[in-house]
Amino acid sequence: MKKKHLFTPGPTPIPSDALLAMAQPIDYHRSEDAVTLIKDVLEKLKHVFQTENDVLFLTSSGTGAMDGAVANLLCQGDKALVIQSGKFGERWAEICEAYGVEVITINVTWGDSVAPEAVEAQLTVNPDIKAVFATLCETSTGALHNIQALAGLTQSSPTLLVVDAVSALGADDLQMDNWGVDVVVSCSQKGLMTPPGLAFAALNHRAWEAVERSDLPKYYLDFRKAHQRGLEGSVPYTPAVTLLAALQCALNHICAEGIRPTIDRHNRLATATRSAVKAIGLPLFATSPANTLTSIRLPEEIDGKAFVKMMREKHSVTYAGGQGELSGKIVRIAHLGWMNENDVIVAISAFERGLAEIGYDVPLGAGVAAAQEGLRK
Ligand code: PMP
Repeated sequence: MKKKHLFTPGPTPIPSDALLAMAQPIDYHRSEDAVTLIKDVLEKLKHVFQTENDVLFLTSSGTGAMDGAVANLLCQGDKALVIQSGKFGERWAEICEAYGVEVITINVTWGDSVAPEAVEAQLTVNPDIKAVFATLCETSTGALHNIQALAGLTQSSPTLLVVDAVSALGADDLQMDNWGVDVVVSCSQKGLMTPPGLAFAALNHRAWEAVERSDLPKYYLDFRKAHQRGLEGSVPYTPAVTLLAALQCALNHICAEGIRPTIDRHNRLATATRSAVKAIGLPLFATSPANTLTSIRLPEEIDGKAFVKMMREKHSVTYAGGQGELSGKIVRIAHLGWMNENDVIVAISAFERGLAEIGYDVPLGAGVAAAQEGLRK
């Protein structure tokens, strides 16, 4: 049996008590215990979302919450501004288009983060934009976007700011209430250290007013139903009870550590990883890298797809490769969720050895030494 190491930006490793919780006998989702479980989970999620607003959950992957955000917030013929800087920004645009929403896009070079001035310019030219769809960490590139600056632009206007924090929630800072973000969506299999299958959304009062006006079609993803039932510790449809049990354990860990220290830990791991990559002599792909993951641009002579495949099949170390136009060109190493200093050392040492194995001239140990130094601080 091979010992596996998972360094993908979702799914992420799961704490052992959360794994064990999923091995318990299945419970009825309308039982008193389930009511207590759902209420507890929704309360604890507020801490992670850094909000006093209610959080609702759906049984879906993260895209379900993105789809629901568009369907619940907008009306036929509405105009939306989408920041596209990678795969997941593109997804916002695709969802909007699927609902017949008029989409204006800001196209950012992959690896870069949006300039808030570019958003401001669009909002000035198109004051009728109903919502700005942004991404906290664009997972396909590893870039972090300045959501606080974007919220500074939308907060005093009727335009809503909707943020995809699917990968970065719990890893990169997102102060929903303090910054004035209207909607945050996320999911279970990343910073929340739970298997895939649950999605979340938090909406402030401005967003709920938009929900009341929305006339786009929705049924399973109806936020009002999920919200109202959730408040009672209930659900409109059978939920993934098993995943809720795991999530409760994972949230207990985050709440015990505290959301600020949790984000600080991710920052430490990310900083150490970045300095390791630089010491190896490879460039970081993102100009403003997130705490969630580190994207590394590979030299031309390395086939990134083959490298990722070799690391997984031969060494049981799973990194993520590049997506879309970055396929084969970057490697993405996540330091997300249930991770500590030792995980960074494993990720970097395996990376160095892998590069050496394919014949790349890498100073063995340079990355590990830089990571160790970074972690000592
Ligand atoms: N947005 C971001 C930023 C993501 O990282 C992902 C998943 N990688 C998604 C959306 C989509 O989430 P899911 O695959 O759970 O639908």
